[in-house]
Amino acid sequence: MKENSKSLASMKFYIRTFGCQMNENDSERIAGILTAGGAKMSDSPEDSDLIIINTCAVREKSEEKLYSCLGRLAPLKKRKRVVIGVGGCVAQLYRSEIMERTPFVDFIIGPDNYSQLADIVHSSQEEKVVSTSWSEDFHEFPSEMTLRESDVSAYVTIMEGCNNFCSYCIVPFTRGREKFRAKENILQEIQSLADNGYLEVQLLGQNVNSYTDPESGKDFAFLLRELNRVDGIEWVRFITSHPKNLNRDIAEAMKESEKVCRQLHLPIQSGSTSVLKRMNRGYTREEYLEKIAMLRQLMPDISLSTDIIVGFPGETEDEFQDTLSMLAEVRFTNIFSFRYSPRPKTAASREKDSIPFEEKKKRLIQVQELQKKMQVEFNRSLIGRTMKVLCLGKSKKDPAVYAGRNQGYQVVNFRSQKDVTGQFVEVHIASCGPYSLVGETV
Ligand code: SF4
Repeated sequence: MKENSKSLASMKFYIRTFGCQMNENDSERIAGILTAGGAKMSDSPEDSDLIIINTCAVREKSEEKLYSCLGRLAPLKKRKRVVIGVGGCVAQLYRSEIMERTPFVDFIIGPDNYSQLADIVHSSQEEKVVSTSWSEDFHEFPSEMTLRESDVSAYVTIMEGCNNFCSYCIVPFTRGREKFRAKENILQEIQSLADNGYLEVQLLGQNVNSYTDPESGKDFAFLLRELNRVDGIEWVRFITSHPKNLNRDIAEAMKESEKVCRQLHLPIQSGSTSVLKRMNRGYTREEYLEKIAMLRQLMPDISLSTDIIVGFPGETEDEFQDTLSMLAEVRFTNIFSFRYSPRPKTAASREKDSIPFEEKKKRLIQVQELQKKMQVEFNRSLIGRTMKVLCLGKSKKDPAVYAGRNQGYQVVNFRSQKDVTGQFVEVHIASCGPYSLVGETV
């Protein structure tokens, strides 16, 4: 190390995260590694010696956010001595482009390389470092080293990567093929979270439904049934499920396991079978609807959410209408909707991006307006009910109000006479908006 290089122990660090829950979990791990090395977390880049931007590559938007964030950091880098690193799938994919477009970046680190982070921070003060090697096996990360944002709800990775190669998706190129974590390690981590007061776990993976324990060959349904026996954990959720891998056994395991929340995120992407075929999703509209019917037959109160992409190459007006009719038929509790944008290396990126931007925008608005109308109707139907809510802390918008999630993963803002952060409470719902419920403790 250079004589004037800073040691980790004398540094303050700031992490900016863009992307999904996996990225948020990666940022918690990065924070844990840096804190274990003696660095202190800061909530301001100006006040930090080390800045890491951790971002995903699934959507073009995250990439744009990365470059605009780096653009804002450029003047800071000129003003003071600060180490800047880029992590996550974008780093994995665009290492050369990032170094070319933003030469002031000191290091690039891929998701499989976080264990070397402390060394990389040291070395990058002497010369630029790019560390984006792959690992074929699941890389075990010490749970106790993760600096979790919440004291009550924790992410637990059970698998990484994906073998599905949906024609629009970059994940198999950035996170590699499926790698499964040993069931015993998952159970151990969750038991230790329970022992430390955690009440909820969210299992993470690109396609959790394909989970297979590398030692016993046991599947996801088996894992859910085992998790249901962990003392102390009250709620178990998981994300993301692939409709083609969701089977009756998994649904029955959900129904039997009272700790598994009656909630499922099941990305449909399009309501048109012909578009689904071009997306290489491996199911038809009818097959998806059959799975929804099976879930609702087993768990009539299940809360369902989904992802929608509008403007996929060649999406006709009729195919788009199929998506609207699918939304109207299923009536999801919540959706995440996006305009299609071509991602490098994917099969769809070799097709002409034929739907004009304005048309994609119009379709997205139509999807969101329809969904908003249905959400308002659904949320209104909950007024007057009392429901169990896990309080996650004060609302970011109004510190006089607490915020939490109900079993269906809806946001519930509520008033309470005492601080109930980290506890389950019964909340009487008095009003609602399209995206949240409002009430008070009973
Ligand atoms: S299932 Fe498809 S959309 Fe999901 S991560 Fe895999 S390739 Fe991407």
